[in-house]
Order: sequence, then structure tokens, then C-alpha cells
Amino acid sequence: MTLQEYLAEADAIERDGLAAFNGAANADALEAARIALLGDRQGRIKALQEGLRSIPSADKPAAGKRFNEVRTRLTAAHGARVGAVAARPASPAPDDLSLPPRRRWHGAKHPVTRVVEEIEAVFRELGFTIAQGPEAESEWYNFGALNFPPNHPAVDAHDTLYLEGGGLLRTHTSPVQVRTLQRYAPPIRVLIPGTVYRRDFFDASHAPAFHQIEGLCVDEGISFVDLKATLNRFAERLFGAARTRFRPSYFPFTEPSAEMDVQCGVCGGSGCAVCKGTGWIEILGSGMVHPAVLEAAGVDSERYTGWAFGMGPSRIAISRHAIPDIRILYDSDVRFLEQIAE
Ligand SMILES: [Zn+2]
Repeated sequence: MTLQEYLAEADAIERDGLAAFNGAANADALEAARIALLGDRQGRIKALQEGLRSIPSADKPAAGKRFNEVRTRLTAAHGARVGAVAARPASPAPDDLSLPPRRRWHGAKHPVTRVVEEIEAVFRELGFTIAQGPEAESEWYNFGALNFPPNHPAVDAHDTLYLEGGGLLRTHTSPVQVRTLQRYAPPIRVLIPGTVYRRDFFDASHAPAFHQIEGLCVDEGISFVDLKATLNRFAERLFGAARTRFRPSYFPFTEPSAEMDVQCGVCGGSGCAVCKGTGWIEILGSGMVHPAVLEAAGVDSERYTGWAFGMGPSRIAISRHAIPDIRILYDSDVRFLEQIAE
């Protein structure tokens, strides 16, 4: 090959290469051009380099200089194009306005979060403040201060995870009641949302970690009438319940104690799948705060009385949406959340 032929070939490769790189519309086209020109095995630059061998010795410096020039320019042209095509979609044509729009998924709140916020809103209107406390507690705050006698069978229902050094994961949000009573003087009206732990199996109706909301009201002259009036008002606001009923129950930290049911808002009390045919939905446990709990927290039980309640927002979310399995609430499956998002 003569020098003249070699330079003509170098010009052609440079012209074609610059056109191919600068005209590459997307990453695929750019890569194809790179292989054709700069590829190690069959690229045209590689062939041009091999062509140097057939140039007469006297012309080699001139041919080599031109070869280096072309290779440098094409490498630079390729590099400059990489960033430009990266931002563009490969296919199909990016501006086809006849394509249907992609469905947009706007984030939504988890059904349990919504229930918690609704409950908070109702009680905030009634003058309650939100209180929070630690999830890792001492046995005294979780049991002792709440009138659980040591080794009492009631503790069995609250089996939990014990931590090194004597602490445990709280089995209810009640320790925050004790901490509030210790810290603030009555009158007290607090709502306590939070995560609690039990050593329960993870099955259709139990979870080892779940949400709880408790309420506490302590003042002079507080009676069961206040408890019923407040909880009835709450049931009316949250469930649109026309009626509620109180059934006697037992908790170590309240005396007397009662479970509250609300009339099923779906069937109006005639019985349906949501209320399992009973016409009623169990909502919460409640009662008058046991004098021993007030005294343990340093409150004069002769002067002050109070009531408290506790409920599970997960169960409320489940009955509201007729969810068959509590585990669905913990799956973080957006296909489920999408179905009940509002
Ligand atoms: Zn019903």
C-alpha cells in the first residue's frame, strides 16, 4: 500500500467514524458503531493499524502520525457521545404520543397508620395529648407498676422477649401510662400509640409485633360514667356505631374492667361476615385505673381516680376492610395496599 492510499483510507475511516458516533441515537447504536470502528478484533481502526506494516519504511512516520490522529479523534468522539445517549431511552421511539400513558401509582398510607391517625384525631378533639415511651422496658414498668403480682398467671398472656441485663420488649403501651403519671400531675388526658411485642405465633390472627393504642384519663372525681361517655363518643365518631355494649372483664391494672363492643356498622347489627354474624365487633378493653397502679406511680389514690383503655388498630383495620389474614398487613405488598388505598 502506498502512503497516498493509506492516507485516503485513514480519511475515509475518520469521516465515517465521526458520522457514526455523532449520529448514534441511542446506546445500542453507539455500541454497534464502537465495535465496527474501535473494536479489538474486526474494527476498522485495528485494520488501519495492521495496514501500517505494508507501508514502505520511508513513509512509515507520516502514516503512523496520521493513524494516531484518527484513532485519538474517534476515541474522543465515542467518549463524548456516551454521556449524551445514556439519558435517552433505547426503544421504542421516545416521542410516540399515541402510546397509552403509563399508570401512575401515588403512594398511600398503610391502613393501620390511617386507623391510628383517625383515632388520634378523635381524641385530640376531646382534649387528649399524644404520649410516647421506650419499647425496651424494665419488668417493673411493664408488670410490677401495673399490679401484675410476680408469677401471676396473667403474666403468661404477656410472654415476650427478654433482653440481656433484665429488660424486656414491652408487651403493651401501659408502661407509658406509669411514666406519664410519674412525670405529670393530674389532670391527665393522654393517648399512647406505639408498637408492642408478644411471644405469639405469626398466624392469621396473631403477630409477634403489633400496634396498640391506650388512653388514660386521671383527675379528681373521674368515674365510670366518664369512661362510657368518652368511649361511646369515640365509637360514634370512628365507626358510626349507633350502639355500644360493655362486658365485664379482668385486667390486673383496672378495677372494674370491661370490654367494649360496637354495633357492626356494615350490617347495622343484623349479622354479616365482618362481624362474624354476631352484629357486634370487639374493639377495646377498658376500666377504672386500679388504686395500686396510681399509688405505684406516686399518685394519691384517695384524691384522684381515672380510667384507661387499650385497643389494637390492626384489628380495627382488619374488620374495616374485611381482611382475612393479619399477615397481609405486614407483607408490604403494594398490590394489596393499592386495593385499599384512599
Ligand atoms: Zn356485621
